[in-house]
Amino acid sequence: DEKELNSLIERIDEYDPKVHESSLSQFTELPISKETLEGLQESSFVSLTEIQKKSIPMALKGDDIMATAKTGSGKTLAFLIPTIEALIRNKITEYDGLAALIISPTRELAVQIFEVLKQIGKHNSFSAGLVTGGKDVQFEKDRISRMNILVGTPGRISQHLNEAYGMETSNLQVLVLDEADRCLDMGFKKQIDSIIGHLPTTRQTLLFSATQSESVKDLARLSLTNPKRIGISTDE
Ligand code: ADP
Ligand code: MG
Repeated sequence: DEKELNSLIERIDEYDPKVHESSLSQFTELPISKETLEGLQESSFVSLTEIQKKSIPMALKGDDIMATAKTGSGKTLAFLIPTIEALIRNKITEYDGLAALIISPTRELAVQIFEVLKQIGKHNSFSAGLVTGGKDVQFEKDRISRMNILVGTPGRISQHLNEAYGMETSNLQVLVLDEADRCLDMGFKKQIDSIIGHLPTTRQTLLFSATQSESVKDLARLSLTNPKRIGISTDE
């Protein structure tokens, strides 16, 4: 309710990632909604991994993030928790349409992200959908017009955005680019550029990658605003 939301927003405003950086250990210490916390607890997620400790606090504050961390380090929760919380903070309801877009290179990875989202978001009221092709475009179109959070592959998402009566994106709060390095290796640069071109520039962007490369840095320059760089020892 309103009071609960205001107190949550107050907690986020007061939260200083620098102060909590060294002591942060468990999800209960974060300024996040009790719904998300319940979802995490029921999925047996208790302590944050290193990449989660570094990226979630700053992402909760609304910063753009460019994080590099190896496979298996826990990047999925590092972007899903701030994504869900951004929608709560911005008072997005199921009637507000598309509010978060999560791009992943393959159908298999998109399905994995979607499964984790369903688990930890099960006490939240948002609608979420998977867009990876394989289904009839019109069928997908009808469904996605009702979704707050979409998880999908670059090709199919850009296809929907480029349709004559494509997705409405004016309410978009968060863009996640997961496995950005792999997306580029697979040749999705054009589709990702096209997706970014359709989105409001006021959004928050979270870019995650297992490795760094010049092309990932180029994508970061194009998609991020004053990003916090995480897991990177040297950078410009
Ligand atoms: P990445 O995307 O970096 O490859 P994943 O997000 O897929 O990593 O997570 C790898 C594994 O670690 C998954 O099985 C996931 O359930 C588990 N995991 C992630 N975060 C936590 C955590 N905070 N506590 C316990 N297990 C976690
Ligand atoms: Mg991953």
